[in-house]
Amino acid sequence: MPAVLMKGPPLAKSMREQVAAEVAELGSVGLATVLVGDDPASDVYVRGKHKAAGEAGIRSIDRRLPAETTQAELLAVLAELNGDDTVDGILCQLPVPDQIDAEAVLQSIDPMKDVDGFHPFNAGRLFAGHPTFVPATPLGIMALLEAHEVPLSGANAVVVGRSNIVGKPIAHLLLAANATVTICHSRTRDLAEETRSADVLVAAIGRPELITPDMVKEGAAVVDVGITRTDDGLKGDVSPAVAERAGWLTPVPGGVGPMTIAMLLRNTVQAARYRRNLLAFP
Ligand code: NDP
Repeated sequence: MPAVLMKGPPLAKSMREQVAAEVAELGSVGLATVLVGDDPASDVYVRGKHKAAGEAGIRSIDRRLPAETTQAELLAVLAELNGDDTVDGILCQLPVPDQIDAEAVLQSIDPMKDVDGFHPFNAGRLFAGHPTFVPATPLGIMALLEAHEVPLSGANAVVVGRSNIVGKPIAHLLLAANATVTICHSRTRDLAEETRSADVLVAAIGRPELITPDMVKEGAAVVDVGITRTDDGLKGDVSPAVAERAGWLTPVPGGVGPMTIAMLLRNTVQAARYRRNLLAFP
């Protein structure tokens, strides 16, 4: 029997409606994005975030800086946003140009406004099992798995990819949900052997259709995070043929992607609650 498709748009829509209701209750909520340079993909992502924020009633501030911006200039803009009382959440779209140290940028955002969850304070909180802001894509993956009642406690979960944005945080969330977690990467000796042991498989690689049906356990839940633009259109990390073997599968497009923006908006409302002392910030 083909896999149940874990579709992002319906769940993302209901979450965005919930965010809109919470924003209406809170009054004004502000999200600032900073984009350095003119990378077309980053421009599409930032525009998508502003559109979604606007639809939820979140006031968004779109700061665009030229590609030759220095690190000091960028840090000055972030410091200004940190000090702006009308701004609840701040994110700096990655990647930044080579002359700027991305780590220094992430560290300069006020952890209480860090809606991407990339600041070492928030990453450390997740590592320690006391999450505050969690990166949006892993949060979206967990929401999809929960909505489809995929069993996690005691399950073997295999995450392929170890980035700070997806691989590591989703591994921590799965661990917190009592899965037994394995993280694979480009040096993993026998990837197929690892993935075949997975009851829950998360592919966050960026290699089109690397995961083929023979690498998947019958009935597994497979989450495809990858998005690669190819001459044949958008491709995930998982071959569509996996649908014949898996129990659940996220489609690409229309799976994890839409959840990411919904979760960013949720994090922004969470930031607004912290800043209004409706939630205690640790
Ligand atoms: P990174 O490039 O930062 O990380 C990719 C990971 O995949 C690395 O850990 C790398 O290993 C591993 N890897 C690469 N090749 C192989 C291989 N042949 N076998 C096993 N592991 C391999 O990417 P991101 O985590 O930022 O993103 C991953 C994918 O998810 C991309 O396609 C990206 O576009 C997409 N994405 C989608 C989002 C969404 O909202 N749907 C949001 C964020 C990302 P190593 O560490 O050893 O190099």
